Amino acid sequence: MAQLIADRRDVDFVLHEQLDVDVLSKQAKYAEFSRKTIDLIISEARNLAIKEILPTFKEGDEEGCRFENGQVFVPESFKRAYDLFIEGEWLAMTEDPAFGGQGMPRTVALAAGDYFNGANYAFMMYPGLTHGAALLVESFGTERQKQLFLKNMFTGKWTGTMLLTEPEAGSDVGNLSTSARKNPDGTYSITGNKIFISSGEHDMVENIVHPVLARIEGAPAGTKGISLFLVPKYRVNADGSLGEFNDVVCTGIEHKMGINGNATCSLTLGGKGNCVGELLGEENKGMRAMFLMMNEARLLVGMQGFCCASASYMNALNYARERVQGKSLLQAMDADAPSVPIIQHPDVRRMLLSMKAYVEGMRSLLYYTGFLTDRIAVSDNEKEKSRLQGMIDLLIPICKGYVTDKSFEVCSTGIQVYGGYGFTKEYPQEQLLRDCRITMIYEGTNGIQAMDLLGRKLGMNKGKPIMDLMGEIQKTLAAAKAFENLGDLAARLEKALNRLAEVAMHLGATAMSPKVMQAFAFAHPFLDASGDVVMAWMLLWRAVIAATELEKGAKKKDQAFYEGQIKSCQYFTQAVLPVTMGKMDAIMTTCPAAVEISDEAFGGK
Ligand SMILES: Cc1cc2nc3c(=O)[nH]c(=O)nc-3n(C[C@H](O)[C@H](O)[C@H](O)COP(=O)(O)OP(=O)(O)OC[C@H]3O[C@@H](n4cnc5c(N)ncnc54)[C@H](O)[C@@H]3O)c2cc1C
Repeated sequence: MAQLIADRRDVDFVLHEQLDVDVLSKQAKYAEFSRKTIDLIISEARNLAIKEILPTFKEGDEEGCRFENGQVFVPESFKRAYDLFIEGEWLAMTEDPAFGGQGMPRTVALAAGDYFNGANYAFMMYPGLTHGAALLVESFGTERQKQLFLKNMFTGKWTGTMLLTEPEAGSDVGNLSTSARKNPDGTYSITGNKIFISSGEHDMVENIVHPVLARIEGAPAGTKGISLFLVPKYRVNADGSLGEFNDVVCTGIEHKMGINGNATCSLTLGGKGNCVGELLGEENKGMRAMFLMMNEARLLVGMQGFCCASASYMNALNYARERVQGKSLLQAMDADAPSVPIIQHPDVRRMLLSMKAYVEGMRSLLYYTGFLTDRIAVSDNEKEKSRLQGMIDLLIPICKGYVTDKSFEVCSTGIQVYGGYGFTKEYPQEQLLRDCRITMIYEGTNGIQAMDLLGRKLGMNKGKPIMDLMGEIQKTLAAAKAFENLGDLAARLEKALNRLAEVAMHLGATAMSPKVMQAFAFAHPFLDASGDVVMAWMLLWRAVIAATELEKGAKKKDQAFYEGQIKSCQYFTQAVLPVTMGKMDAIMTTCPAAVEISDEAFGGK
């Protein structure tokens, strides 16, 4: 049975029918990106993903990475896939063509990434992290740094990483102890140990560029004293050629639950006192630089988790159509009744529809958030740009935290649909679940995402972003109410939205009171409820488009797809949203038990 990745009809629906992404081509910046060009890009990405990257999925997991004498070897199959990916110039899809980019809208790049990440995101982390690191150089580097590093990174000749985490500095990055001492020539000598570094060392390219967070000697404690440095594995000479080894030593790799094809490295910087870095941006402004890149990185992690869920759904659907087991419930008493494909059983249909609804809602949310950044890129209205940016900032913890939480659940359901075979290595479902799990942890754990939503984003700009977002949801509600079959669904979402506003007020006020600990004990449930409401919105928005098309008399080939949109929305709104209402009741209690229980009372001794 062929392994699948993403539903092309659905990808096209979000791009063209929900977001109407080719409106961007009316602006000079994206003039080349007509619908035809966009469709071609997605077809090319899909081909490469299916033919060349997907075969590395299982192999990469089974072979894993190898560590020998400070060297790391990636799974053999990754090398050809990487070369083809780079040859196709896919690494810097959204970037400036002057530095090797393709200058395409982010929404289109996300859709291409839907296929690439769905094929094997452990592989995609090598180019993905390179892209993130290069963006730091592009945003904060000097002209000289850009000339020396950018093109080599955006073209994938060199790869990149992100060196934040240390044994005592995970969620609390401000606690890091890697140090930087200024040299007379303006460079810095870097000393420290970093752990859990994705793509930190490998044998696919000649050089690896590490953006490193470190503290300049004498700088203030905490996040205020952190600076960002550019530390290549091999130093780069003034003419761009490679110089001497820069004393960045890999001391080991992690043995992990998933993403085994991606090397997670421990790196020692300056163990021999010979690691030199250049300041990237300003002294003590390293965290600010990281924050600016955070939205991009968190959206990408949401995408990684989501792509596992999307693939898991596609596989489960395929399997359920073919796997024959048991009689139809309607013929249960008939001994001669034939066995039916499991897709005929109500519980399997429930699982599939639940997976479908989450996958569709999450795809819409992720692309929509990308589309907001494209709209900023083509707008010259500062007020509008700031409105859109506020909504992005608000949605990012949902794109990362909620989406990865739900993606993991979808992957688990994807195993359940297979029954016992889902638990075996014969099928991809168990790997998708394992690979998906880390997305809930790195790039800020989902607990940290929830705190970000409640502690920073909710009250940001006096609550304007959340009001703006609610305004957008209201527009969909108004459109839905025009359809008889969507009226009840709109009313239910409206009720949930109003309740969410009450919950946000209550939790926000509690967070500012002496009961702050209680409020934050409900930060994650609040993230969860907010995500549910956003999902219901995305699905109602889809349903409005589908109802419009059906009313207009959709082509026969599209009818089932549109009917499916309305069913996803109906399922989520009638079968999931009532649970969300219950979750919101629970938040309103701000039950103090988790805060009040003594450490001893947890037991376990
Ligand atoms: C496979 C993998 C790849 C990674 N790649 C990279 C990489 O490329 N670069 C990099 O720099 N790092 C990377 N990391 C590190 C990753 O970002 C951290 O593991 C993560 O930020 C959590 O830090 P920690 O593991 O120290 O957990 P901790 O910070 O110790 O957290 C443990 C638990 O406590 C909770 N917690 C901690 N502090 C708070 C708080 N203040 N309030 C509420 N809850 C809290 C967390 O949510 C979590 O549930 C990677 C990790 C893994 C496993």
